[in-house]
Amino acid sequence: MNNISNNEKAEKILRLKEEAGALVLAHYYQNLDIQHVADYCGDSFELAKRARSSDKNIIVFCGVSFMAESAKIMNPEKRVFLPRADAGCQMADMVTPDIVSKMKKEHPQAVVVCYINSSAATKALSDICVTSSNALKIVGTLKENEIIFIPDKNLGAFVAKHFPDKKFYFMEGWCPVHHDVDIEALREARRLHPEAPVVIHPECREEILKESDFIGSTSGILDYCRESDKKEFIVATERAIVERLKEECPDKKFYLMSSCLVCPNMKKTRLDDLLYTLETLDDEIYMTEEEIRAARLPLERMLNAVKD
Ligand code: SF4
Repeated sequence: MNNISNNEKAEKILRLKEEAGALVLAHYYQNLDIQHVADYCGDSFELAKRARSSDKNIIVFCGVSFMAESAKIMNPEKRVFLPRADAGCQMADMVTPDIVSKMKKEHPQAVVVCYINSSAATKALSDICVTSSNALKIVGTLKENEIIFIPDKNLGAFVAKHFPDKKFYFMEGWCPVHHDVDIEALREARRLHPEAPVVIHPECREEILKESDFIGSTSGILDYCRESDKKEFIVATERAIVERLKEECPDKKFYLMSSCLVCPNMKKTRLDDLLYTLETLDDEIYMTEEEIRAARLPLERMLNAVKD
């Protein structure tokens, strides 16, 4: 496959997905050449909903494993494929069923709020899921005063700040890509680009969030930068967002705040992997009915909580 050009690979992918009747979804953190051949790009939850509204029965999810799992959970009747079976998520791997069970035992009154960036097994032990864009809204609907927030303690701390009357319990979990951004990187970027607002994902640490101008989910950051009258931006989220913004808004300038903002798992999927999946229909996501049912409940509760 290496003897044909990327353009030829892309053309072949477009043809194969038509022939197979497949819907190709790509997370915004995927390499741009993957995003260019996808039917839709988005964050994980938007893509799971795209899969649901499509009439295609074959879903190829270019992202990491928990995302393909979420797509399968929300579309159990469809076949879902992950082109790189080894693309996991370091944050999702930080939480184990034992950790969650121990926290539930220690805080029996608390409701378990689970960031969607987690495995199906973690979701199954949780009461309700949240995304980074709806976490504030969802937590605002909860009547419980105690909240176990897993696995991301940074997103959890950001949410907790908005609910001083509620008690939050966190575990040692974080996204290494966002967690490793340090305050020196932010200050240096500001020094170099004093006119540029600092836009940040809430998976970053609190000390970074405190010095930012805008905090938003992946989609929130994209919308903010597209719609703002400003001409330059310092961005603290995965590098592919900056690459996408540069492509979409050529009249604006975007600076990645730190070179650590690259997710190695998100970069694993190559055109060759996608081609292989479309040709062979290998690497399908299999889950039992019970696994799907248990993990679906907190996702359904999230959907119901934001429905208005
Ligand atoms: S960016 Fe962070 S949360 Fe997203 S897949 Fe990579 S490690 Fe996981």
